Formats: sequence, C-alpha cells, structure tokens
Amino acid sequence: MNLHEYQSKFRFADYGIPIPKGKVAHTAEEAYTIAKDIGPPVVIKAQVLTGGRGKAGGVKLARTPEEAQQCASTILGMDINGHEVLKVLLDPASDIQAEIYLGVTNDRAARKPLIMASAEGGMDIETVNRLTPEKIIREHVDPFLGLRDYQIRNLAYGIELPRELWKQFATIAKGLYRCYIASDATLAEINPLIIDGSGNLLAVDGKMSIDDSALYRQPELVEMRDTSAEPAAETEARAAGLSYVKLDGEIGCMVNGAGLAMATMDMTKLFGGSPANFLDIGGGAQADKVAVALRIILADPNVKAVLFNIFGGITRVDEVAKGILDALAEVQVDLPMVVRLVGTNEEEGRRLIEEAAIPNMVSAATLADAARKAVAAAQAS
Ligand code: GDP
Ligand code: MN
Repeated sequence: MNLHEYQSKFRFADYGIPIPKGKVAHTAEEAYTIAKDIGPPVVIKAQVLTGGRGKAGGVKLARTPEEAQQCASTILGMDINGHEVLKVLLDPASDIQAEIYLGVTNDRAARKPLIMASAEGGMDIETVNRLTPEKIIREHVDPFLGLRDYQIRNLAYGIELPRELWKQFATIAKGLYRCYIASDATLAEINPLIIDGSGNLLAVDGKMSIDDSALYRQPELVEMRDTSAEPAAETEARAAGLSYVKLDGEIGCMVNGAGLAMATMDMTKLFGGSPANFLDIGGGAQADKVAVALRIILADPNVKAVLFNIFGGITRVDEVAKGILDALAEVQVDLPMVVRLVGTNEEEGRRLIEEAAIPNMVSAATLADAARKAVAAAQAS
C-alpha cells in the first residue's frame, strides 16, 4: 500500500522532519482559500499514487491566490499515468538551492534496511542508479542496532553536504529511519530534500510504501488507504480475502497458494501465453470465494481463457470441485476453461467435474498440460 505525498510528509513531520506547512484541497475554490491563508507564492501538487508528477504537469507554481485557483482547476481531474487527480496539495513555495535524495528501503538480499543518500536529488533514484550508481551513498542498517551516528556522517560526507547542515541532516535521517520502522514501511523516501533559501533542509516531496502484511497492526495507516487509486478489482478481492494482482495477459489464473500461483503464471509464459492476473484464492476455496474470484477474472476484458490450478492438501479436492461447480451455477462463464485438480481426493474431484459435463471446460492432468491447453484455448478464442 502506498501513501500519498501529503500523507507521507505529514507523517514525516511527526518524526521531527521539517516539511512545508501545506494543506490539501479538493476543489479549486478551496485551493484559493488555502493559497490566501498560506500566503503566495505556493506550489500546487497533484496527489496521485504515481511518480513523475512534475514532468506530467502535475506540479505548478502560483504567485497569487487567483493563479493558485487556476492551477488547481487545471490539475484537478487531470490524468497522470492513468491516475485521476482528485486532490491537490498546496505548499508554500520553496526557494531551492540544492536537491538531495534521502530514502530508506528494504534490501531483501542483505536482509537489512538500507539507507541511501544522493546529491542528485529531484530526479528519480532509479535513473541515478542506472546512470551514475556511484552517486548514491548506501549504508545497511543492522535492525538490532538501528541507524548509527557514524553511518549518518558517512552519508553526509559522501554527498558533500555542507558541514553546518550535518546536525539537521542527522535529525532528518534518524526521523526517517524511525518512521520507516514504526510504520512497517518498505520504502520511506524524501526526494527532494532541499537546501532552501535560508540555508536549511526541508522535505519537499515524500513517499511511503507500507508492507501490506503488516497492516493488521497499523490501524492508523489502514485508514489512509486510498481505494479510489487502486483497481476496483483489487479492492473487491481484498474484501473477499483473496490476493489478486491484475496483469496484462489473457489467461485468467485461479490458483490456491501463492507459490503455485506464481508457478502457474510462469507456465503460461513457458507455453507462449501470458497471465492476466496473479490470484491466490487461499485455503478452503468455498464456492462464494471462487465465485467472487471468477467475477473478478471475467471482468477483465483481456481474459480469453480461465485456468484453474488447484492443489488439495488440507483442503480436499472434491470440496474445491464442488466450490467451482457451485460458483459456475452462479456466474455465467462463456470463455474456455481448463481445470487441473490434484491432491487429496483428486479422483472424486475429477469425477464431479466430469459428471457436470460443462461444455466449455476441459480437464488437465499436469500443470504443463493445463498451461498448454489454456494457452491454446486463449489463442483460439
Ligand atoms: P515528483 O515529480 O512527483 O517527484 O514531484 P516533486 O514534489 O518532487 O516535484 C518535482 C520538482 O518540482 C522538484 O524536484 C522541484 O525541482 C520542483 N519543485 C517542487 N516543489 C517546489 C517548490 O516549492 N519550489 C520550486 N522552485 N520548485 C519546486
Ligand atoms: Mn519527487
């Protein structure tokens, strides 16, 4: 789950990081009032869960409240990388002397948080990493020791930060790290962290990603979820307890277990197709869950065939087969379907499917067989 810029920055402020004192507007009129309150010049910034807003015209400078209103009315409703702008943040404009990057992320390979700084702030860090990786200073943080002072000094030294800003920088780096840990974040990033006209550091842009698996213990963050920004299918899937991620292929995958779901996706590719989604229907696979999953898969116009790949462990295959049949009684499926059922009580499960004699459904014995059939069916339909 990603947080908006304003949500990230307001949270950063709780950890002692200096941010511009801005406010969010939903309408152009509101933007006018806020701009007047703050005192121009102000920056008006699209609040969308995607990067590169600056380049897309989603960040504008206004010298008067009238101009702010005008900018807001241009930006509100704008489409940025497929995201509709419903909110704008108004910040007092900063006089930018230098743009720094500062971020904390999870380095899976090192099994440690990684804090990074660069003097090349402002542009996206992936680009800096590709073109001039040496310009990113990195320090792995031992999660048991926390971020140490010497590491902060290494960062400050590495990005050639003026000595008089080291103390401020230390406060910000420590705050960002604490915020990252306390929020169960996978990313907490300030880009740019600027040196402003009065020679102080200020977090002008902020971004946070939260580990979805930790949301159960982050009620405050769950409240911040912006469901308007995510595909409707993902919201629906989450409500039903399904893990669903939409992709752009043509084979709808209905699988139990995340690992098996990944393997199924790989197999569709191996046979020349591509998956329309990742979907883990979880254990149990009751009819109602299967039905929701089917509806979600079928709502995607790219889907040309549906592949069921079910492994019955604790969940018995015959129960899953019943679930699939009950769901098919509820949801009309006109596309070709391929079913592979293996595991506990598989004979019984297969028998149920065969007896139902659904005309557009074929069985498969192995995963390879299932994937091959699904790809062929998708190409034919
Ligand atoms: P992003 O493009 O989505 O990362 O949005 P940012 O908030 O990082 O803004 C993009 C760029 O706009 C920054 O790197 C700055 O160069 C510029 N910018 C943002 N806020 C201000 C501001 O208050 N004053 C000035 N002069 N430039 C700003
Ligand atoms: Mn930015």
